[in-house]
Amino acid sequence: MNEEEYQKMIKRCLRCSICKWIPQVQIKSQKYATACPAIDLYNYHPYSGGGKIILALALEMGRIKPSKELLEIVYKCTECGNCAISCKFLYTLEPLEIMMRLREKLVETGYGPMPKQKAYIAATKKVNNPYNEPHENRMDWLPDDIEVDHDAKVLYYIGCTSSYRRQEMALAAARIMNAAGIPFDILGDNEYCCGSPILRTGDIPTFQEILNKNIEIIESRGIETVVFSCAGCYDTFKVDYPLYRDYNFEVLHTVEFFNRLLEENKLNLTKEIPLTATYHDPCHLGRNAERYEQWEGDEVQLMPLVSINIPPKPKRTGKKGIYDAPRAILNKIPGLKLVEMERIKEYAYCCGAGAGVKSAFPEMALDTAKIRIEEAEETGADILVSACPFCSTNLQDGIKDSGSKLRYFDISELLLMALGLDSEKLKQVLAEVA
Ligand code: SF4
Ligand code: SF4
Repeated sequence: MNEEEYQKMIKRCLRCSICKWIPQVQIKSQKYATACPAIDLYNYHPYSGGGKIILALALEMGRIKPSKELLEIVYKCTECGNCAISCKFLYTLEPLEIMMRLREKLVETGYGPMPKQKAYIAATKKVNNPYNEPHENRMDWLPDDIEVDHDAKVLYYIGCTSSYRRQEMALAAARIMNAAGIPFDILGDNEYCCGSPILRTGDIPTFQEILNKNIEIIESRGIETVVFSCAGCYDTFKVDYPLYRDYNFEVLHTVEFFNRLLEENKLNLTKEIPLTATYHDPCHLGRNAERYEQWEGDEVQLMPLVSINIPPKPKRTGKKGIYDAPRAILNKIPGLKLVEMERIKEYAYCCGAGAGVKSAFPEMALDTAKIRIEEAEETGADILVSACPFCSTNLQDGIKDSGSKLRYFDISELLLMALGLDSEKLKQVLAEVA
């Protein structure tokens, strides 16, 4: 969002608070009617999407000054974008983009981001990952029996979290591609952070350095398709990179890629998984993975706060997120029954980890995860499934802390079991659930 749009938009918030709730027609119960983890946990208006817009306006008007309290409110937000979907159900504001620009301004003026976020940005600059792990250990997850083809046109971009924290996801994805006979390459020592955790804090110059390096490396190798296990990396490449620089390769999440392979009969699911599963839509694979559409036209002011766009401006409503592919995969697994939570697809509740919250405010991340775990439990499912290493870590922390009996799996781990390539894990899960 440029400065002119920001200045216009922060004055147009109606103060209606609709962004605290999922759209009325989607509400199935009072318990799961809310949209925003920050307002749910802190119950104080400035934490909401609309509340943060008032803070942005007050800052511009000089009515408040940056302070520790202000930073805490602005950064206690997972940038999940649920408020933006609710606002656009009836109106036209972009609360998520306003909040991202607000963070950018706080960084530009030397106030943001939070100390823990500054530490992971420094680590990423030094060792190319926010976990401060040695760069040379990035490919430690890769066993000798995985076939990598350095002439392949498909690149598997593993990402920092799957490389260092959720290696089971990297391993499962690589084994599935080998099972389908799809040649794929990896960047090895040339794979670096995608920049997502840095972008979300508002440090745009560092993010731009990273995205330039990543695009140049991938294009120099003549890659046609890049496949991601991580919803955060995927969203950042698909939606955010093009705002700064174009590139000439296709980007796919593993759920899209694997569903395509299933439809082409390149994967043969032979093992029954007789369990009930519920699926958590990661924000970065769902609503936030919808690309921005270019718009050129005129904004005509009809009365204070009310204007129309000629021609109509496309609304980013989250409907073009990736919702069908993961559900199609789960429905193809023999024996598996899919049951849905109340808040799904573009209205899904956040896992609680994103936008630097897990590192700066771990208690907020955990408390949000526990809300989502309760919602998952109420479906009666045996297992909770998702498609993002960051959601994986946080939801598993929530399961552990709340003493839930739910078991968590990434969708690629389930596929691997259904392919008959991880019988030990399948046996263990079935025994535990029985
Ligand atoms: S992005 Fe998510 S956490 Fe942040 S204000 Fe909006 S709904 Fe709340
Ligand atoms: S951001 Fe949108 S939904 Fe929220 S208070 Fe403002 S106008 Fe209403």
